[in-house]
Formats: sequence, structure tokens, C-alpha cells
Amino acid sequence: MPEILIVEDEEPLSLLLRYNLEAEGYKVDVCDRGDEAELRLQESQPDLLLLDWMLPGLSGIELCRRLRARPETERMPIIMLTARGEESERVRGLATGADDYVVKPFSIPELMARVRAILRRTKPESVSTLLRAGDIELDRETHRVHRTGKEIHLGPTEFRLLEFLMSSPGRVYSREQLLDGVWGHDVYVDERTVDVHVGRLRKAINKGRMKDPIRTVRGAGYAFNDQFLVS
Ligand code: CA
Repeated sequence: MPEILIVEDEEPLSLLLRYNLEAEGYKVDVCDRGDEAELRLQESQPDLLLLDWMLPGLSGIELCRRLRARPETERMPIIMLTARGEESERVRGLATGADDYVVKPFSIPELMARVRAILRRTKPESVSTLLRAGDIELDRETHRVHRTGKEIHLGPTEFRLLEFLMSSPGRVYSREQLLDGVWGHDVYVDERTVDVHVGRLRKAINKGRMKDPIRTVRGAGYAFNDQFLVS
């Protein structure tokens, strides 16, 4: 199980990241100061570091520079988290030695994809590209979906929606959360759009009177029902 250290002083963001990374099966630790992170990283090294740019104690940029100067951390994968306008030109050049960076506010699926991309390169044995639930199998790399062995063709939005729902089985998502997670923060679409795409997804995956794995929760939203095989 890959270990990820989040160094971020905005608690709502670090909680959100922790929640989503743990849901994907990573072992997650959080630190809210740059200087404490430096001490911790001298003792043990995670498989990936999510590093905020502006931090109390020691800035993310300086910490990144110091990590690159030490043999035990010079190759540690680092994704920088930056706010818009924070010396973005320099971040863009990745002059700090970071492997990648994302600009806040970023979409969670996008960040997860970048985390997977880096770990697939550095720790290929640890990253599963397959999501399985009941008789449904979704391959994140090839973007193929199978149900009972038969391939199901989905549009890109339905694919992302299914991937998002399947990565946290049982969890109920509101339409707003689905919009944020699947369409991204910066996109303004009506919440009814979610219903339209859930409808299309259901139509595609439930052909031939198969059991519907997507549960509509009245007044709340949708969930992927991980118990759908146990009838
Ligand atoms: Ca910060």
C-alpha cells in the first residue's frame, strides 16, 4: 500500500485529500507545518509527497529544495499544491524540482489521476488500475468497462461518473458533490445534468434486466450499491 504524506495547513483541504486518498487505498499521513514535515521526512520517506506552497514554519518551496539536496529524498515524488498567482511562473517551470504541481482550486479526480500516474511510474506494482465491484470491472488505464465479462461502451462523462461512484462504494453523493468530483469545480452546469448522465449510465450498464447497482437516495443523491450482488 503506497504511503502518501500531505503537507498542507488548510485543514478542510487536507481532510478532503486524506478522505479521498484513503478511499483509494493509500496510507495517508498529514502534517500542517513545513518545519515539522522536514523532521518527519528525515526519519521516514513516503512514496509520494503532496506539498503545499505556502506553509508555516518552512515554505513548501524551500522544503522541496532541501529534499532534493539530500540523497535519501532526492528522488521522492513530489506534487506541489499552489494557489493561483503564487509565483506560478516559477512553479510552471518546476524549477523547484517537483515532479508535478496542481493549482488550487483543483478537482479531486484530476489530482487522483496525477497521483496514480506518478505512482504507476515509481511503484508500478502498488497501483491497481482495475476497480471491481460485483460483476462490474472498470479499467482506469484503458477506460474499458465490463459487466459479466461483456464490454460496456460508455461516454466519457458516464465513465468518469461510474469511476467516481465505484471508488467509494456505499457512499452517498449529493448532486453537488458529483458535479464537483466528476465535472470539476470550475464548470457551471445544472444539477439536473447529473440526473441525465446517471440515467444514461444506468441504461448502459443495466442492459438485459441486470440488477441496478446505482441507488437513488431520495433527497440526498446517488450511491454505488456495493451490496448489489447479494440479492
Ligand atoms: Ca498554505
